[in-house]
Amino acid sequence: MSNLDRRPPARELGGLADTPAGPVLDLLPGKEVLLGESTRVRRLLPTLGRRLVGAWAFVDHYGPDDIASSPGMQVPPHPHTGLQTVSWLLEGEVHHRDSLGSDAVIRPGELALMTAGHGIAHSEQSPAAHPRFLHGAQLWVALPDAARDTAPAFAHHTELPGFASDGLTATVLMGELGGAGSPGTAHTPLVGADLDLAAGADVELPLEPDFEYALLASSGSAEVEDALLERGAMLYLGTGRRSVRMRAGEAARLLLLGGEPFEERIVMWWNFVGRSGEEIAEYAERWDAEDERFGAVVGYDGDRLPAPPLPPVPLKARGRVR
Ligand code: MN
Repeated sequence: MSNLDRRPPARELGGLADTPAGPVLDLLPGKEVLLGESTRVRRLLPTLGRRLVGAWAFVDHYGPDDIASSPGMQVPPHPHTGLQTVSWLLEGEVHHRDSLGSDAVIRPGELALMTAGHGIAHSEQSPAAHPRFLHGAQLWVALPDAARDTAPAFAHHTELPGFASDGLTATVLMGELGGAGSPGTAHTPLVGADLDLAAGADVELPLEPDFEYALLASSGSAEVEDALLERGAMLYLGTGRRSVRMRAGEAARLLLLGGEPFEERIVMWWNFVGRSGEEIAEYAERWDAEDERFGAVVGYDGDRLPAPPLPPVPLKARGRVR
């Protein structure tokens, strides 16, 4: 998905100054963001309270929306650099097209993993004939310096590994959890998993103490350690945990995001991740000039999204020292 904010703020992310040295329970309520004319999403990252969880740099949760009598998701061609997009659906379908020629319909339980690297453009739309409800999450992963200029790629994984125990059914989107490893290519140590908790589930999930973690309640609510995590909210768990206890009264779906704290400092603006304001400005200029860096999305009927005006103050990758 695109950040459709016409005045997107620039963010400096990364560095370890904000990473707690041990477990915490920070509730991040997120904020409602209007995308385009009708789509409302809840933005959980970045927020005022937290900017990164591992390399996870952007988290939007949307729906479930009744789109029976509307076109549903309609995101025109837009660019990305320096990141991966992870698309995850709980209900509905999304038609992905990109400048590599990829053309795929993504369904619940499948992973759409787009590595922007050097540069890519894509569009995302509900198919003309689509299911009634649309519900999902749009996630971005920041690429480390060694991989951020890599060739762009798109992978559609229709089968994902997982495991089941104590009322929990886990599906691994990225990284590894409970011995199940995702086929998705990751460039830093991280994990993303869908946790489906049955009514009455009481489960202790093993974690990696070197990782920081957050849980997003995509449907239902759950007790996580001593905190109540309600639908649409995110709970940041900090680092240093060997496990986390989750209890669900009613059935619930949680999204687990985690990873090694991301040490590099990055600049994120609109749909770009770079290392300096100059870089970001160049990406925007090249996108608006229809430069070959991003290519063209074939088969999309309509105009591409222009880059919003750059912020008046130059973007700066300010040194945040650990
Ligand atoms: Mn996008």
